[in-house]
Amino acid sequence: MVSEDVNRVESEMQLIVDGKRLDGRAFDELRPIKIKVGVLKRADGSCYLEMGRNKVVAAVYGPREVHPRHLQDPVQAVVRYRYNMAPFSVEERKRPGPDRRSVEISKVSREAIEAVVMKELFPRSGIDVFVEVLQADAGSRTACLNAASVALVDAGVPMRGMISSVAVAKVDDVLVLDPMKEEDNYGQADIPFAFFIRNDKIESIALLQMDGRVSTDEFKQALEMAKKGAMEIYKMQKEAIKAKYVVEQEEEVDESG
Ligand code: UDP
Repeated sequence: MVSEDVNRVESEMQLIVDGKRLDGRAFDELRPIKIKVGVLKRADGSCYLEMGRNKVVAAVYGPREVHPRHLQDPVQAVVRYRYNMAPFSVEERKRPGPDRRSVEISKVSREAIEAVVMKELFPRSGIDVFVEVLQADAGSRTACLNAASVALVDAGVPMRGMISSVAVAKVDDVLVLDPMKEEDNYGQADIPFAFFIRNDKIESIALLQMDGRVSTDEFKQALEMAKKGAMEIYKMQKEAIKAKYVVEQEEEVDESG
């Protein structure tokens, strides 16, 4: 049967060699992260983010009037989130346009974002979050959420906190943080998390999905590993936002001087 063949191929791919991951990372180590704020002129807020080989851009528009008007909510803002993969972002050309996967990712990501946006301040308005995956290497939904959260801050949207997101995978019977493509494809489980962080503390889980199987003990360990990783990402998000304002202030001083 095909599924048995697939399982056999999966188990043949050794992902931990001499106690190390294929890219040399420790089990609880994130991939390198790069964050740049305010990269798009026309958007109200934007962010370019790299998480390993993932490269994503987030653009935020709003709060602004919602069209068509029947979509307006008289008591709060409507948040829309579109996750989209560029056709050239993956090995085999991705057919352009939404598919089941991107619709699902957009929905769960929107729900995570809605946990932090103060929607009640903007009745009848819309806040649109667009995330474009330029290059994907597993964890693209987590990279997109991290970028979206920063872009929302850049847009000046009032928020209760930040969203920081990372996955944990089980590969060769061990848990690893922030899996790359090989670990995602050939591992035993993949668990993307997103956390709602307020006042520098994790307050709640805003997104949790899982493929595969782990024991309840492993799940608890995965949660702790993800929390630690998310806090590291959160610090980088904050630094990137601060860096933008330092640069802007320096530019203002230059112009006035
Ligand atoms: N992927 C792909 N083609 C697709 C969808 C996904 O090649 O149509 C790859 C891509 O590298 C992606 C990875 O598979 O990052 C894992 O996809 P998954 O659905 O687990 O989402 P992600 O981990 O990116 O959030």
